[in-house]
Amino acid sequence: MGRAVTLMQDLKIRDETSDLHEARWWEPASPAGGSEAGNRVHCYLCPRHCHIGDGQAGFCFIRANEGGKLYSLGYAHPAAMQVDPIEKKPLNHFLPGTRVFSMGTAGCNMGCFFCQNWDISKSRADQVRSSYVPPEDVVSLAIRNGCPSIAFTYNEPTIWGEYVIDICQAARERGIRTVMVSNGYITREAFHDIYDHIDAANIDLKGFTENFYGRITLTHLAPVLETLEWLKNETSVWFEITNLIIPTLNDAPGETRALARWILEHLGPDVPLHFTAFHPDFKLRDKPRTPPETLHTARRTAIEVGLHYVYEGNIYSDGAHTSCPACGTMLIRRSWHDVEEMHLKNGECPKCGLAIPGRWAKSAEKGSRRIARSAETALAARYDDLNL
Ligand code: SF4
Repeated sequence: MGRAVTLMQDLKIRDETSDLHEARWWEPASPAGGSEAGNRVHCYLCPRHCHIGDGQAGFCFIRANEGGKLYSLGYAHPAAMQVDPIEKKPLNHFLPGTRVFSMGTAGCNMGCFFCQNWDISKSRADQVRSSYVPPEDVVSLAIRNGCPSIAFTYNEPTIWGEYVIDICQAARERGIRTVMVSNGYITREAFHDIYDHIDAANIDLKGFTENFYGRITLTHLAPVLETLEWLKNETSVWFEITNLIIPTLNDAPGETRALARWILEHLGPDVPLHFTAFHPDFKLRDKPRTPPETLHTARRTAIEVGLHYVYEGNIYSDGAHTSCPACGTMLIRRSWHDVEEMHLKNGECPKCGLAIPGRWAKSAEKGSRRIARSAETALAARYDDLNL
């Protein structure tokens, strides 16, 4: 059962919008209802399975019970919007070198001590600057900023899945693709509802022991592994995996080897794996930055195990490049998040012709990305102060 943490009456967001958005993925906590049940609801969007009393919110802060109904407080209220390189998500095999319209709300369903976006992920919806941006406007803003894709990122997008789905539907109509940057902590009941609309994902695999997940993220490892298997076996979503390596907590060579072996056995050799460097933040300020040598060793280990595409992130390194696993030809040369050289030809190695897995074509199959002049004026009036 999740922790009930905040009184809905305190949330300013409620004053700002008269029509709260009813959530999906909930049920009355007691089918019989009545005074004993006290209007409690059960949210089954993520494996926390919060039981939430009237006037309270779930662990993630942005799903709240009002009068026996669950509402999504983050709906149409992004706390952050920005244009990023797609490589920052990180995604190295999805539209490389393009810009992605990136957005997040408040709250999170994990409790990671090392969170590097804690200013919004640990904020209640009323503690972050929040504009009203309906789904259609998100898509128009992406188009206006020259982005072929939209990423749900910065905080955990699963917890605002209703908004994600509506943006995805509007995006698909206009030829814009969508990306989940997620901790993978989602239930079976909600998984397809969300991921059937998504084109690409980066899933954090934050460690490979239950001890690490339990103590440092306040969640469990098994549901994240299940999500990765569902993505592989039941969807066409292009996905990559990130493992943030934290000195002394999840950097044991045996843990890295076990993680790589699991990926090879359950997902195959072609799912890209990113080892990224930690910097002290939030409640983990007593740990040092990850030494580059730790990332180099982890990358060598994963390649030895048999993974084809293993990257290093948050440092300058040759581990950022993509090389052909068959003949070693340099395919994409990167510096941090910049693509400096692109040698792939129609998704194939130009030397040996090996097909490199990923989504490389930049043009969408259908949908108009045109913005009418009148809509452009309205967008400018509403959002130009955001300085995207
Ligand atoms: S999404 Fe939020 S309210 Fe729902 S179960 Fe997870 S933490 Fe609890």
